[in-house]
Amino acid sequence: MSQLRSVKGMPDRFGDMSRALRAIEDAFAKTMRASGFSEIRTPILEKAEVFQRAVGESSDIVHKEMYAFKDRDKKQTYLTLRPENTASVVRALLQAGMLDAKHDEKHFYIGPMFRRERPQKGRYRQFNQCGAEYFGCESIHADIDVLFTADLFLREIGVKNFKLVINSLGNPESRARYNTMLKNAAQIFADEWCADCQTRLEQNPLRIFDCKVPGCRALLPKLPVLTDALDEHSKERFTQVCLGLKTCGVDFEIDAHLVRGLDYYTDTVFEFVVDEGLGAQNTVLAGGRYDGLSQAMGGPSLPSIGFAAGLERLVYVSSLGLASGQEGPALYLVAADPMGREQCMKLHSQLRRKGLNVQRDLRERSVKAQMKDANRCAAKFTIVIGEREARAQIGRCRNMASGENLDINLDLEAIIEAVT
Ligand code: ATP
Ligand code: MG
Repeated sequence: MSQLRSVKGMPDRFGDMSRALRAIEDAFAKTMRASGFSEIRTPILEKAEVFQRAVGESSDIVHKEMYAFKDRDKKQTYLTLRPENTASVVRALLQAGMLDAKHDEKHFYIGPMFRRERPQKGRYRQFNQCGAEYFGCESIHADIDVLFTADLFLREIGVKNFKLVINSLGNPESRARYNTMLKNAAQIFADEWCADCQTRLEQNPLRIFDCKVPGCRALLPKLPVLTDALDEHSKERFTQVCLGLKTCGVDFEIDAHLVRGLDYYTDTVFEFVVDEGLGAQNTVLAGGRYDGLSQAMGGPSLPSIGFAAGLERLVYVSSLGLASGQEGPALYLVAADPMGREQCMKLHSQLRRKGLNVQRDLRERSVKAQMKDANRCAAKFTIVIGEREARAQIGRCRNMASGENLDINLDLEAIIEAVT
């Protein structure tokens, strides 16, 4: 056996898993197109500065998890496998001159992301995300539309028992106010914070809410909540978003401790979490408003809101997931002799051109082995064709589930009618 192995945390996907991933990707594209989003595909490799400027040097994804290396050019450009796609999308649209506050840009993406974190169920080093970004609209209706669409998508792929939790981070001023409040309050527990949190408290105090260390998590309820620091405008905006969600039938809970990893989130932030099936990796979709990002990347000041969902996590909790199984072919053509094989080959090509899922034996096996193969691939019908059937242009069509047989003409219309 070959000793070659894939990279740790970067699993190969086939069978039920790849089928389930594809089903969810297709459902996502369909929902997003019907909601007015168009697809964007950006390169998997970007200059590292795209994420350093967008996500922030102090974030875990840039600081610890990014796969980065120097290119072989003279400048030794620092490149990275994208750890997320929002920054790439903003980079791409700015580069194309498509972003200004005068009109809306709504885009969705699907593809692999790379983060060097500890692999476990629902957490990989190469994983797939589907996501959406809505640029240009400052109104609460953009928040409501994006949240409604995310909720609709999860319903459409049959995710049960999920919960939407939301919060508002307010504007940059109220965030700065809160950071000071947080720093002061956190100092009371000085040594109890983990080493990472000590740094976070220096550099970006909000990130302590992302910490997974139990000791730190236990301290969080003792800290002031963001809501205390929000100004009247942000509070009112958040109230209006919540009312709008109610009007649209989107259930949610407010969690005053919810913050998101990015530096540039403003106002609405949210996560869709599931109760069971994923352990600690229970956030399936997350996002928020990031009005500061475009400017931080050298573009115009631009209202923006978006989300990203982990496709592998969705596979485990969606009814389109692993159990959905493969559909067998509608028909398996069984060749009984050389003349029958000729006839099978011809019918097979004609039926495939008509769009029928039909298979035939390519290994020139006996009739018995072919029947076994038809069973194995869960074919719904079989037709055995030999010299006699080829001459008479009549074949016996067998329903594999009921065992019923029916003689039919070997013309395309009659076959399609019998097996569909
Ligand atoms: P988590 O708190 O689970 O680490 P995150 O805040 O790092 O998530 P985001 O950067 O917001 O995640 O990415 C959006 C979604 O992508 C997550 O909610 C999750 O479903 C998925 N995701 C993130 N990291 C991974 C990973 N390493 N493997 C699989 N899915 C992931
Ligand atoms: Mg993470």
